[in-house]
Amino acid sequence: MRILLIEDEPRLSEALTYILKKNKYGVDTAFDGETGQAMAETGVYDLIILDRMLPHKEGVSLLKELRSQGIATPVLLLTARDSIQDRIEGLDAGADDYLVKPFSTEELLARLRALGRRSGSQIQDEQLKVAELILKPLHCELTVGNETVKLTLKESLLLELFMRNPGQVITKEQILDRVWGLDSEVEANNVEIYVHYLRKKLNSPKTRIETVRGIGYCLKGEPDVS
Ligand code: CA
Repeated sequence: MRILLIEDEPRLSEALTYILKKNKYGVDTAFDGETGQAMAETGVYDLIILDRMLPHKEGVSLLKELRSQGIATPVLLLTARDSIQDRIEGLDAGADDYLVKPFSTEELLARLRALGRRSGSQIQDEQLKVAELILKPLHCELTVGNETVKLTLKESLLLELFMRNPGQVITKEQILDRVWGLDSEVEANNVEIYVHYLRKKLNSPKTRIETVRGIGYCLKGEPDVS
């Protein structure tokens, strides 16, 4: 699950990034409204954490513009103010939830889990199944037959992308965006290295990651009849 964090206070952004990564979320950060909006418009994020007071473009106008473009990514709005009026304004602009600073880590994580459920994209104990592969994305755990192996966060994000799109060709660019994030300087050959790691861990006779030359990869699996 990939989160876009739009927050201009460097220390808060750093602390939140640390907490989110520790809790197995992929995180990209933006420190002003314009950059945040451009990143949100790519549509690659599962959730957006949006600070209200931002340089260049404030949170509520950014949110209104996103919604008017049809971008429905769930948004958790952060604000230093707590008045009914602020709350209504934020929710009217299209926020899915609202958190007043300062907030506890536990509360933030609980809200994110709830938003993930509401968006239908992911829940705490969600399992993805393709043929005999079972992946628990939030635990980075892969089960093949009766063997369970731990994956690294990147391996898990990569396999999640394949398992959500079985039989479809995923380009290297899509993989870089989803797994490493838009602001990374990672090269396409890192994708090859991680696919190589993942193939070793799959170790399954029924499913394989096929290379589609010059384009990317495709997860192929035989239906599980058991
Ligand atoms: Ca701020």
